[in-house]
Amino acid sequence: MEATTMTRPGFSRECLIVLVLLASFILPSANLMAQNRLFVSPSEEERVLNAEQQQKYRFLEQQLTSARIDLVRIGDLLPALRRRTLPINLPGRLMEFSAEPTHVQYYSPDHYIWNGRLLAGSGRIALVNNQGAFTGIIQLDGQWYKIEPLGRGMHALITVDMTRLPSGDDTPPGGQGEGKQTRAHKASGGNKNIEILVLYTDAAEDAVGDIAGTAALAVNDASVAYANSAITSSQLSIDLVGTSNISLQESDDISDDVMDLADDTEANSRRDSFWGDVVILLTDGDYGGGNIFGIAKEIEADEDNAFAIVEADHATVNFTFAHELGHLQGGHHQQCSVYNRTGCDDAAGNAHGYGWTIGGGEYSWTIMHQLGRPGDPIQYFSNPSVSSNGNATGTTQNNVAQKIRDTASSMADFRLATDSARL
Ligand SMILES: [Zn+2]
Repeated sequence: MEATTMTRPGFSRECLIVLVLLASFILPSANLMAQNRLFVSPSEEERVLNAEQQQKYRFLEQQLTSARIDLVRIGDLLPALRRRTLPINLPGRLMEFSAEPTHVQYYSPDHYIWNGRLLAGSGRIALVNNQGAFTGIIQLDGQWYKIEPLGRGMHALITVDMTRLPSGDDTPPGGQGEGKQTRAHKASGGNKNIEILVLYTDAAEDAVGDIAGTAALAVNDASVAYANSAITSSQLSIDLVGTSNISLQESDDISDDVMDLADDTEANSRRDSFWGDVVILLTDGDYGGGNIFGIAKEIEADEDNAFAIVEADHATVNFTFAHELGHLQGGHHQQCSVYNRTGCDDAAGNAHGYGWTIGGGEYSWTIMHQLGRPGDPIQYFSNPSVSSNGNATGTTQNNVAQKIRDTASSMADFRLATDSARL
């Protein structure tokens, strides 16, 4: 009581002016904070989609793993990104959370790739801004969300049902044989930069919001996985050297399609033009009755076999793109003693994916491990020297990271002439 009587006389006109001034600063900045959240709820008018947006929406709705779609706009993120804190307000979730940047490639205000670590719970976000069209992924405590552009600033936030991911075996032909000895590096092998050419079919372009954004996000996901797995940029870097449409017709057999891709005149001519060390084709295939999302032509590919296929709409879900690229780099699936299921791989050598039980019936697995148990795929290649949430991500027998380092020079040299010619 005494405190109240003492402060009241001191509540002068000057104090009031200061308070008003303070409020005038605080209120707009509070509004600004709201505007700088990742998602903005569209107006009723914006929710009425035009024909083109409706078509995109229908394709996204029909995807095997789409559990729910929320229509959103993306906020003005630059102030949040400058603050190095991005508030994330997922529709349907009461609790907001924030992300802080881990890997950023910034080209211009409407062209950047932003990777962040979630500060609450366990998770990450990756966003590609391609001239205002955002393609992204959010992984939060085992729940995955995709962001796909619909045009005119509208976006679909897709809640992914990970239980619908395929259980099919994508083991590349010949992959069950003896592990290969890593080829000797060329004496001149200073080049560790693998140039990746992403091709796509017409159907793949229809299947996603922005095919160029999808390709950029997929390559980014692999690149961040290398960094997480203690593969340094001097040991390996990858670049998306081009994203290009080809007229190859998809069949319902992914093994046939990857053979056709490697022989396809148009694909090879594009590879020559772009000097791609590796070629990955994005499709919309309904392979194996929806049971397979990707395939590599060969484990530890040579130049003639450095081809893979990945379904565009799931290129970044469960790291499918990074997984197939990992096969080309020499990565095998988990050993059958680690997790015995179709596609487990007891080939000789130490380049196996790895997974472990994390309690509560849940399982955690690295990128070359096949899906198959409830749990969370993590953005790591197996490596006994790297831990995730207190668990070593590999063992001496399960070290894909080392294989990826060992094959970097020879793969980067598949089209070395190119690299020199472009300098
Ligand atoms: Zn595989």
